[in-house]
Amino acid sequence: MRERIILHNITRKFEDGGIQRTILDQLNLSVSEGELVAVMGPSGSGKSTFLSIAGALLEPTSGEVLLDGESIIGKDKQALSNMRLHKIGFIFQSANLLPYLKIEEQLLFVAKQGGMENAQATGRARGLLQKLGLSQRSQAYPDKLSGGERQRVAIARALMNDPAVLLADEPTASLDANRGVDVVRMIADEVKEQGKSAIMVTHDDRVLPLCDRVLYLEDGRLV
Ligand code: ADP
Ligand code: MG
Repeated sequence: MRERIILHNITRKFEDGGIQRTILDQLNLSVSEGELVAVMGPSGSGKSTFLSIAGALLEPTSGEVLLDGESIIGKDKQALSNMRLHKIGFIFQSANLLPYLKIEEQLLFVAKQGGMENAQATGRARGLLQKLGLSQRSQAYPDKLSGGERQRVAIARALMNDPAVLLADEPTASLDANRGVDVVRMIADEVKEQGKSAIMVTHDDRVLPLCDRVLYLEDGRLV
């Protein structure tokens, strides 16, 4: 099966008060299409650093990241930003919606950034909102939505430009147990149906049965 994201021998060091600390140490991970991988580990173990590198937000000290077969290493800022827009969908702990845009407009905004034509964007936004049970909310502002609904909008927004890879950093942290499971089920379904690869950092044991693999970040590696 095709691997939509490959991390090969990723090392990341940070300089801390004159001392070099190795946070990621020759880390390897490949995720196939249709696969959702959970990453766990204690606070400070490097989970967010790892996800930032996977999502081309941070450069590794050494190693290689391939998104849909294309390397992110050595690309200029503009090229990286383009790759992020088209190949990656991010879902964070809180939905980070823009307070002055209605729900449908949130999706149209990222489509526009990705260069999608208007009619296509509107059709796609409505389809995603319907799929995620948000059609009734499309003309509401984010402050009128519940936490679970906001996180579903964040998923729809992450999917808008049809990325190869979904990266989620504790997407259920702000939700109660049932809502959390619902949200991860939606991510899992989309990954399966659309042949995406997904990596989700989580502390939430209840969502693990929905994941294909569970890995632990330990001493800078995934085990
Ligand atoms: P996690 O998400 O698992 O809690 P992080 O990836 O946020 O862990 O951080 C891992 C370690 O790397 C922490 O000790 C943190 O202080 C350190 N770190 C993260 N980013 C930086 C940075 N920009 N400069 C220096 N140290 C950093
Ligand atoms: Mg973190």
